[in-house]
Amino acid sequence: MKLDNTRALVVFSGGQDSTTCLFWAKRHFREVVALSFVYGQNHVHEVDLAEDIAREAGVEFHRMDVSFIGQLSRNALTDHTLAMDQEKPAAAPPNTFVPGRNLFFLATAAVFARERGIRHLVTGVSQTDYSGYPDCRDSFVRSLNVTLNLAMDEQFVVHTPLMWLDKAETWALADELGVFDLVRHRTLTCYNGIPGDGCGHCPACHLRREGLETYLRQREARTEHHEART
Ligand code: ZN
Repeated sequence: MKLDNTRALVVFSGGQDSTTCLFWAKRHFREVVALSFVYGQNHVHEVDLAEDIAREAGVEFHRMDVSFIGQLSRNALTDHTLAMDQEKPAAAPPNTFVPGRNLFFLATAAVFARERGIRHLVTGVSQTDYSGYPDCRDSFVRSLNVTLNLAMDEQFVVHTPLMWLDKAETWALADELGVFDLVRHRTLTCYNGIPGDGCGHCPACHLRREGLETYLRQREARTEHHEART
């Protein structure tokens, strides 16, 4: 099958990272398609928020039910009776890790993309602040990219624009793409399901806020430096 270079499929959860990736993809590709997964997550309304953002971005949106992923393992993102780890345990991923999630997501996204003649896949995983999730690491994504190509005899390219960025740099990228306010107020990263600045105390909010504060300090310092020179 001939896959084209003008379109990209973004694995899209409506969180800070994948929303930044959605707009990154819009800048680099003529046409962007967003795919969101219902995987048994406690806060499934994140998919509705994702759809709103995609619609506003003028991006074709699809949601796909892969709820079996949430049933395969016991973890705090799909089992609301399980209290989430507040800190990363020393030897293992935290219990917010959903084993196989990015494997299933990217494999499903690749088949979905292939059916539409799309070869470019975009995912917001990052090794820098990867919270102990092994399937956010560069080695995993590269390995899977090879596997996808072998599995379907295609030349997929999996793009990871955030792989080596920390959260402050991800905020900077959103700002550079002109969507800082949209990402800040409309995306949902919080493990307690509260959009924007979130609950403020879960590990995801903590990471997001630290990055935001660092970026805002840097931006302010840059503005002051600029003003001092002019
Ligand atoms: Zn939170």
